[in-house]
Amino acid sequence: MPCGTDVAVKPGYLSEIFVSFQGEGAHVGRRHLFVRLAGCNIRCRYCDTPDSLERTATYTVYRPGRAPEIRTNPVDAEALSRIVEGILAADSPIDAIALTGGEPLTQSEFLAGFLATLRGQTRLPVPILVETNAILPRRLRDILPLVDIISMDIKLPSNSGEGEFWDAHAEFLEVARAKDLYVKILVDTGTTAADVDRAARMLAAVSSGIPAFLQPIVDPAGCSMITAERLTELYRVAWRSLSAVRVLPQTHKLLGIR
Ligand code: SF4
Repeated sequence: MPCGTDVAVKPGYLSEIFVSFQGEGAHVGRRHLFVRLAGCNIRCRYCDTPDSLERTATYTVYRPGRAPEIRTNPVDAEALSRIVEGILAADSPIDAIALTGGEPLTQSEFLAGFLATLRGQTRLPVPILVETNAILPRRLRDILPLVDIISMDIKLPSNSGEGEFWDAHAEFLEVARAKDLYVKILVDTGTTAADVDRAARMLAAVSSGIPAFLQPIVDPAGCSMITAERLTELYRVAWRSLSAVRVLPQTHKLLGIR
């Protein structure tokens, strides 16, 4: 879909909109405008956004110096564009717009309409980043021309509590490699070396230089669920295939911010 094209736009279901420091991955520490969509197609046992797993009747907009504003779902692309443009204008600096969830790609048609509207109405001063569980490659194609950065999870069967997504992840990678891409692999003490090795080899088959972040899973109290020794073992496994692997905890949780 070309930017700025008039389209029959699906409404979307949101969870919240807020500005904060990016706590994960390659753009950690940058100030992002987060648009959190509601609804997810899987249920990871370590999920830390349980309030965004189902579509809800309302969503919340947090703006600087104002009380949180409760709004009604669904929202149309024009209305969301106005909110985003308003926050971009009022709360600089903002380094990127982060589409997150839930799983944002479950609403790829809405996102395509929203992003076409946003890019059609304004010369966007910031890139669009999408954070995804990376199991819906065909839906990524819906928005690919309209996004700049892709934060791709690899869901490991040994710790997600879900099934295997190797084939979907491999297909997703083939689509996502066209963009500025980085990968997050969540790990805990139960994570197998075989899973990390398979994930690293899959990435290396595309490019050994794809930035890959081993992200320790934390419990509800914020404590890491992996020992330093096990983390080192898994790092060594990933390092054998990848040249840009790093260990990075969720920094927003260390800071106590959203
Ligand atoms: S994909 Fe993300 S939002 Fe969905 S259950 Fe897993 S961690 Fe939670």
